[in-house]
Amino acid sequence: MSPLVRFAPSPTGYLHIGNARPALLNALFARARGGRFLLRLDDTDRERSTPAFAAAIEEDLAWLGIVPDLFARQSDRAERHDAAAERLRGLGRLYPCYETPEELERRRKRQLGRGLPPIYDRAALSLTAEQRASLEAEGRRPHWRFKLDHRTVSWNDLVRGEAHVDCASLSDPVLVRADGTYLYTLPSVVDDAELGVTHVIRGEDHVTNTGVQVQIFEALGHPLPVFGHHNLLTTADGEGLSKRLGHLSLRGLRAAGYEPASVRSLAVLTGSAEAVRAIAGLDELAALVDLAHISRAPAKFDPHELDGLNARLVHEMPAVAVLDRLAGLGVPAEAAEAFWLAVRANLVKVEDARDWWHVVTGPIEPVTTDASLVSAAIATLPAEPWGPETWKAWTTAVKDRTGAKGKALFMPLRLALTGLDHGPDLSALLPLIGRERAAERLRAVA
Ligand code: GLU
Repeated sequence: MSPLVRFAPSPTGYLHIGNARPALLNALFARARGGRFLLRLDDTDRERSTPAFAAAIEEDLAWLGIVPDLFARQSDRAERHDAAAERLRGLGRLYPCYETPEELERRRKRQLGRGLPPIYDRAALSLTAEQRASLEAEGRRPHWRFKLDHRTVSWNDLVRGEAHVDCASLSDPVLVRADGTYLYTLPSVVDDAELGVTHVIRGEDHVTNTGVQVQIFEALGHPLPVFGHHNLLTTADGEGLSKRLGHLSLRGLRAAGYEPASVRSLAVLTGSAEAVRAIAGLDELAALVDLAHISRAPAKFDPHELDGLNARLVHEMPAVAVLDRLAGLGVPAEAAEAFWLAVRANLVKVEDARDWWHVVTGPIEPVTTDASLVSAAIATLPAEPWGPETWKAWTTAVKDRTGAKGKALFMPLRLALTGLDHGPDLSALLPLIGRERAAERLRAVA
């Protein structure tokens, strides 16, 4: 059976680079195995979920190169969740509880005070029908807890190998709130099972959930998917990335001009067995990631690494990959390829090409450090047409006339022609500047 993986964000904020990690690990896992990728929007929190965030998630995934094969929304599947809850009630695995948050908190403190683990004491399980009826008559509405089997749940984790959770040390989890809405735990199991998800690959913050969810799968009679829990991306000082803080959102990184491939490389290769490096293609990246070799330590990353990764990708990018963006920067189609090849090695981001296009077309402020050399350059300015050989021929002529060589020859010319002491190879840039502009700039400082 070909794998079906899923990425299940809540549409309550923008995706950040930490969310890109599970999204990509799932997408690459499917890609390497001819599997499919399901985007499931976990929108059971109706207050905080919005259609705008849902649309943004799809857009941000597409930018990363992830086009889901299947799509589901938990809010469309409420009847299935209700049916599963009913089954669990029938099995005696979902029981009503009436404690208020304050009562629970008081009990928790008492347990802690006695040196006991603060887990739910299952008091509600021993309520009689009359006691429940009288609580309801007071206006209390129950929330519903899943009755855990007090045993250790084990599984063979794609990342962690042999993994287990001791469910005897956990509180029975609330699956249904008093207002009838669901927490994440049950709908996730129902949807994974009914939509045929074969591999649940997610962050290690879900390991405990897996212990609970395995029991729910089993109670409902569903076969278990394979689980994999990867380490989480953290900042260099170990701080987690929060969606609500808008930390390094994918749209922010896109707006800042980073290539999706550099964000992908950083999100996936950090904390893997592979060195973090710039990988342009999804297939190549898919071939590199092996969940079994992902580290158990937090995946600390430095956002500044993005610049280096991005620069390396940009330096290799062919002109066809950027023609649209160059047009957007005002570079005319006939000059685009030559211009790109001239400047790409000097860029960190594609949009930095704008500055070099400005250097080509001007106006710039030419600078002189050697007026007599510039005069000799004017006198020897080659006739058109200009091409890649022009710079060499011209500087040879200037050298013959003035005796200047090396930096003393090239730097005054670069400063006069571009106003800058650094930049792309002038043999490539000069033909783009052209004879007329070059002559004008030289005359301005001669
Ligand atoms: N909506 C959950 C989350 O964003 C999904 C977790 C999971 O992959 O099961 O944390």
